[in-house]
Amino acid sequence: MSRTVDVLIIGAGLAGLTAADQLRQAGHERAAWQSEAAGPVRQADIPRQAGLDGAAWQPDSVLVLEKSRGVGGRMATRRIGEAVFDHGAQFMTVRDPGFARAMAGWTKSGVVAPWFGDKNTRYRGQTGMTALAKQLSQQVDVQLSARVVSIAIQTEARAPGAAGTARAAESAQASGAADPARAPGTQAAAAQVSATHSGHSQVWQVLLESGEVILARSLVLTAPVPQSLAMLDAWDSSGKGAGGKGVVAAVLDPAVRARLEAVTYDPCIAVMARLENRSAIPSPGWLRPRSGPISWIADNQAKGISPVPSVTLHAAPDFSRAHWDEDPRELGEQLLARAASDLGSRVLEFQVHAWRYSRPTTPLQTTIRSATDGSLRGDLAVSSGQPANALAATVAGLPVVFAGDAFAAPRVEGAYLSGRAAARLLLSLPPQPEPHPGSGA
Ligand SMILES: Cc1cc2nc3c(=O)[nH]c(=O)nc-3n(C[C@H](O)[C@H](O)[C@H](O)COP(=O)(O)OP(=O)(O)OC[C@H]3O[C@@H](n4cnc5c(N)ncnc54)[C@H](O)[C@@H]3O)c2cc1C
Repeated sequence: MSRTVDVLIIGAGLAGLTAADQLRQAGHERAAWQSEAAGPVRQADIPRQAGLDGAAWQPDSVLVLEKSRGVGGRMATRRIGEAVFDHGAQFMTVRDPGFARAMAGWTKSGVVAPWFGDKNTRYRGQTGMTALAKQLSQQVDVQLSARVVSIAIQTEARAPGAAGTARAAESAQASGAADPARAPGTQAAAAQVSATHSGHSQVWQVLLESGEVILARSLVLTAPVPQSLAMLDAWDSSGKGAGGKGVVAAVLDPAVRARLEAVTYDPCIAVMARLENRSAIPSPGWLRPRSGPISWIADNQAKGISPVPSVTLHAAPDFSRAHWDEDPRELGEQLLARAASDLGSRVLEFQVHAWRYSRPTTPLQTTIRSATDGSLRGDLAVSSGQPANALAATVAGLPVVFAGDAFAAPRVEGAYLSGRAAARLLLSLPPQPEPHPGSGA
């Protein structure tokens, strides 16, 4: 079945989940106030009471799409047998007062816990870094194993079986999806798209690898920037010509596009090793070698997330880049050999994970600007102005917000701030047109 949603968020890392959670809170608070027996609450008071100054619109439906089988993105936790490993982000630091308040709440509820550091505390997830993402995802609508292959704009209603329907199926096939003709519900989904869309002027059309099509009135893209751009480009580069009837490529403003293309990331090769005995890494369980191929070693048992001896090694960015195409098994052995004296134990087994986009090296600065309709824009940075922490653009009049750590700071806190900013920018939009009756929105 296809769905039509108000806000479609791509990526269930911390940025995407935070954006969804903030939008949910805005909607819930509105519902609560509206049902207060004390009397009706003026619509105009709601954003102010929610602390969302400038908010003009609350979406009714928010959906998060995630390509993986679990949430968390780069806040990743993996098991090998009984051993537990954080193999992406290792800890969270706090600088922003809003993030500090959120961290205090998560600590109180037992989702996160301090790991080390008295003045500048490093926090860990109670059961691993994914714990926080799992907690946030319980409150929002997340569709897992939902890989987005292309994003386009649907501009007009189409009859079932029209060119655009075939085009969606072709694009899924061209993008490596399972045979769309056999994918359950593909034709039905495309027909549903045609039926549900009649009456709308234009909507985002998002095609999943499964062949499912989801329509949305606004979009939040939180994958690493090159991956988000690839989703927008996929519609054109499928080799079938540009757009079926009523479906067109989503073309960004060239200046915005150029700035997004300039965002780069460091790669990181991570090795997860299960040890026979406790490691030789001193308490509280981390080392940061100053030179050589390894930039970080963590003892997950000392950290408090693994019941048995387990370590995570991160290769330095230069090493990861230089050896990116080499055999992962050999790289793992090489890195473990270099760390042998710190491990101080026999390695029972290991796995390697290569992060192509680990941390942004050139974050994109954006600033808040008030538009004439009262909405807030996250524009490319000008010399002065409050940081927007997200980039808001429109394509053919449809809102799209680029968010994630690349728009705030290259760490977990940056992802949180950017997700929150994305929600704020969306909530400041003028009221969106009501969905057409029977649209399922
Ligand atoms: C090895 C490593 C070590 C790190 N160490 C630290 C640290 O110690 N402290 C710290 O603060 N930060 C650290 N970071 C950075 C931190 O993990 C990130 O800043 C933060 O998690 C980014 O969150 P995000 O939501 O912006 O992006 P992500 O977590 O990358 O979320 C994006 C999501 O989009 C999904 N996605 C991508 N493409 C598609 C698609 N086509 N369809 C559907 N979904 C898609 C991805 O699967 C992912 O879940 C580290 C990162 C790495 C990789």
